[in-house]
Amino acid sequence: MAKKIFVKHILLADGWAENVLIEIDEFGIIAKLSKNQVLTSDFEGERVSGSIIPAMVNNHSHAFQWAMAGLAEQSGKGKDSFWSWRKIMYDFVGKISPDDLEAIASALYMQMLKAGYTSVGEFHYLHHDISGSQFANPAEMSQRIFAAAQNTGINVTLLPVFYRYSGFGQQAPNDGQKRFIHSKEDYAKLLNLVARLADKYKQNFGIAPHSLRAVSEADIHYAINQLNELDANAPIHIHIAEQLKEVEDCQAHYGARPIEWLLDNFELNHRWCLVHATHMTYAEVKAVADSNAVVSICTTTEANLGDGFFAMQDYKAHQGRWGIGSDSHISVSATEELRWLEYQNRLLSHSRTVLTGGDFSSNGHYLWSRAAQGGAQSLNNQTGELTVGNKADFIELNNNSLPLLMKSNHELIDSFIFNQQSNQSIASVWCKGQKVVADGEHHAEQAIITNFKKTLARLI
Ligand code: ZN
Repeated sequence: MAKKIFVKHILLADGWAENVLIEIDEFGIIAKLSKNQVLTSDFEGERVSGSIIPAMVNNHSHAFQWAMAGLAEQSGKGKDSFWSWRKIMYDFVGKISPDDLEAIASALYMQMLKAGYTSVGEFHYLHHDISGSQFANPAEMSQRIFAAAQNTGINVTLLPVFYRYSGFGQQAPNDGQKRFIHSKEDYAKLLNLVARLADKYKQNFGIAPHSLRAVSEADIHYAINQLNELDANAPIHIHIAEQLKEVEDCQAHYGARPIEWLLDNFELNHRWCLVHATHMTYAEVKAVADSNAVVSICTTTEANLGDGFFAMQDYKAHQGRWGIGSDSHISVSATEELRWLEYQNRLLSHSRTVLTGGDFSSNGHYLWSRAAQGGAQSLNNQTGELTVGNKADFIELNNNSLPLLMKSNHELIDSFIFNQQSNQSIASVWCKGQKVVADGEHHAEQAIITNFKKTLARLI
């Protein structure tokens, strides 16, 4: 299974290089990189003519929500908010079967691959059947996520969600949440099953205590202890401070803001990923950055839901680590997440090229490389930059597409992100050394679309 790929132009961890021979082992790991090679006529490996950059990591996904993307854009009575969107989402959740979930996730992960994401963190909370009872296999829905990853060839880190309450103070869950809820003991069983599935499918796993409103302090400790028995390096993701109401409710209950409380009660480190750390004070920004945790910024979903702005410039000043997530999948475009993260900060600061590595450096390269590396850390995945020992996860840019014509090195990434015409700038996508997208088409595209159409016809 080992293979060799010869590439003309590639962004390696130590910079751009030409005429590079990549040797990939049977597990899809880069075993050797040799620069400035001359091809002999008997070379039997693959040749890639376009410029290559590392693939992107999508560190926050709720796959099923993609099937309702666009269905919550009509106004209701009075002022609309996150909480009205959530009501529509809960109505939709009531209908999804295991087959539906696999069909939706397969189509979504195919779209992610076509957009240049080769890794996804699935924050998975749709566990039970439509009556709220466990399936015969309590990990049925988790297995469907792994199956969707297998159908498409994407790296998945499955993060089973621990969800117990509808609000702070251990309020009983409401009817819309019945498919999400676990006792401590049942969550531990699920986590053990997920660990076994991850081993079988050769994927990663971690945990996701849903939010401070959905689990107690003791619940989070319990979940972490269970996880540590299985893998003491596996990631811990949590929704943290997405909405102002959540911040106010947390203050009323705990006497502290969500991130402040988390910092006071848990030792944040490289394993943690704080999703939607939207509402932070300056002291919280500094403490999270110093902890080496990653934040997940979901630019387009946070905009769609009217959450607020992430404090990117202060966080960057403290060398905070971050990744991007497509979350509700209202957009599945890595370039759009990053472009609008930059544009938000240009609009806020009345200036240009805000997120860079310093004077005279590439805006696009900074955005792409930091998001890929932070995302990789948050999913415990050896990816995010092209170096020996990492997965061979990369994108071949189409140098002949109009936005990229005559561009070289970092100008290519700047143009890829900022010169937006359509997705025509991606020629092929490789995950663990396998070409999963060629000429813009996924290898199983037609079958995946057929299944997705059947599911949507039933759901909508
Ligand atoms: Zn989320």
